Amino acid sequence: NKFVFVTGGVMSGLGKGITAASTGRLLANAGFDVTAVKIDPYLNVDAGTMNPYQHGEVYVLKDGGEVDLDLGNYERFLDIDMTFDHNITTGKTYRHVIEKERAGDYLGNTVQIIPHITDDIKRRIREAAEGHDVCLIEVGGTVGDIEGMPYLEALRQFAHEEDDDDIIFAHVTLVPYSKNGEQKTKPTQHSVKELRSIGLQPDIVVGRCEDRLDPETKRKIALFCDVPVDAVFSNPDVEDIYHVPLMVEDEGLDEYVMSELDLAGEAIQKADR
Ligand code: ADP
Repeated sequence: NKFVFVTGGVMSGLGKGITAASTGRLLANAGFDVTAVKIDPYLNVDAGTMNPYQHGEVYVLKDGGEVDLDLGNYERFLDIDMTFDHNITTGKTYRHVIEKERAGDYLGNTVQIIPHITDDIKRRIREAAEGHDVCLIEVGGTVGDIEGMPYLEALRQFAHEEDDDDIIFAHVTLVPYSKNGEQKTKPTQHSVKELRSIGLQPDIVVGRCEDRLDPETKRKIALFCDVPVDAVFSNPDVEDIYHVPLMVEDEGLDEYVMSELDLAGEAIQKADR
């Protein structure tokens, strides 16, 4: 199994989900069996009881799972059917761990966020990835949110448990324009710093901006965030979100991900078949 983790910085609603789904589409085009997991760090068990004015209409999966609209994006972009197990919420995770505690499964041990909640998160990710070539895991919310902490800690542990070439971290951030028309990288620098303070170093940085990132902007992000320049990508505003895969393909995001995950050779073979 290969894992692509996607985190977001600066603010929500940046296009993290669309970036992840687009990357998945390109990997699927290269012949891989791609699936996705959406992590929603809220305490609701599922999206069924949530006000549609706050979160958008609930999206209902084939198995009846009531989830966030993002899962609909994954189903449409990847042309797959997802199940309720592909949505991890804090409500689900805590409920499961507390039920196990009540049943005495922890044999008298103190039940804690680390390791019990983090183990449950890792288990859910691995189970959802089972049988697929690549699993995209999008962590909802923004780095630094209290709710997201157990997930980021689980990811940190996950990275130690898997081979380096089986896992890649992409961080999607905002690159705003200043009043004098300059692309500003400071919010990106701060959010990557926050990520690094909890032990996660992104392999890829995607800057969401009105336009493509200038070469100078990319150079700056690379320098401050400690990634190669060719690991910095743009996700510019487009009229139609179905153009996002073409934009990221144009910058070579798919090729970079495949080479980092040691999938490039396999992609050529699959394309030949
Ligand atoms: P996040 O996962 O960061 O919360 P989403 O992927 O759900 O963000 O996207 C938030 C909104 O922005 C959605 O309405 C989506 O259609 C839109 N969006 C995402 N990427 C782009 C883009 N490149 N251009 C225009 N709109 C976009």
